Amino acid sequence: MSLLIENLADELAQNGDLSDGDLKAALETNRYDLELFKLADSARRENYGTNVYIRGLIELSNYCKNNCYYCGIRRDNPNVERYRLTEEQIFSCCETGYKLGFRTFVLQGGEDAYFNDDRMCNIVSTIRRRYADCAITLSLGERPFESYRKLFAAGANRYLLRHETANEEHYAKLHPAGMSLQNRKECLRELKRIGYQVGSGFMVGSPYQTTEHLIEDLRFLQELQPAMIGIGPYLTHRDTPFRHFPNGNVQLCLRMISILRLMFPYALIPATTALGTADPQGRELGLLAGANVVMPNLSPVGVRKLYELYENKICTGEEAAECRFCLHNRVASVGYQIVTDVGHVRTFYEQNAK
Ligand code: SAM
Repeated sequence: MSLLIENLADELAQNGDLSDGDLKAALETNRYDLELFKLADSARRENYGTNVYIRGLIELSNYCKNNCYYCGIRRDNPNVERYRLTEEQIFSCCETGYKLGFRTFVLQGGEDAYFNDDRMCNIVSTIRRRYADCAITLSLGERPFESYRKLFAAGANRYLLRHETANEEHYAKLHPAGMSLQNRKECLRELKRIGYQVGSGFMVGSPYQTTEHLIEDLRFLQELQPAMIGIGPYLTHRDTPFRHFPNGNVQLCLRMISILRLMFPYALIPATTALGTADPQGRELGLLAGANVVMPNLSPVGVRKLYELYENKICTGEEAAECRFCLHNRVASVGYQIVTDVGHVRTFYEQNAK
């Protein structure tokens, strides 16, 4: 074993943490990637075996009031054909998903005022009534705390809100004035206080990002202790102010997945669609590097291309059943298996057994 990987293993065994120096060294070279992935894979096997949990992603709306500089559905992109799913469409996605073995539905969308508390609570409580054995995950951006409370009471149990970057200056380079990192962090803390299983994360290789920023991201995650951590490479979209920036580096993203698995062994970590878009084998490589979740698309095929956060997004043409079948084979090809399971974070079961 190389000295660096031996150091990482020792540090983790002794204090469950990694020093900034070792993190920097591990992130900035690809020389030890295979050893790093192997170490992360054994941490994942210890915690979750070879199980891979599936989350059915339903993209409710591509309307958004925000203007994030990196995102294809930003408010000021005039070239987006905007859509919203009807309640019936959403319920029909859940019905299809349930039959295909999904036990988590992720309702994601831009920050769209149409999906106010009344409408969202109605949708959530209907899904909760129909699918008592499923988790309902929301990913609807920043909302008033009262709204998070109402949605939780209606039956939602998880919330995904990436912090995007934990560094104030970097945050201000990725977002227009008016969006605040402090508010995002407060939302995450409040979501946790309410009782949601919370997911956070960031893009790897976003414009102006440095290794030090990535280390800050890890430190913020250590403070937050989220149940889920979603990362993927930044991918360029032609209609954003960042159109001239290159895509994030896949190999760095894989290294980051391994480091997350080592620092947060209990976490649910997806091999994201962005990773699969950046590299045809990206999701399989993500699993081998320590990820244990995949999030296939359950949205109606007709709208999938319209939820274009970045260019060349994969899986926009197939029906849900085809996607599910394709992923089954992809996951199996690298020695893991998709399970029909609600897939709560391990600590959830431990806390509820007490
Ligand atoms: N509105 C919700 C929110 O802000 O959390 C959910 C939708 S938002 C589009 C989901 C995630 O997409 C963001 O957290 C961001 O990290 C990711 N994303 C947006 N643009 C991207 C890009 N160009 N490349 C990679 N990921 C991107």
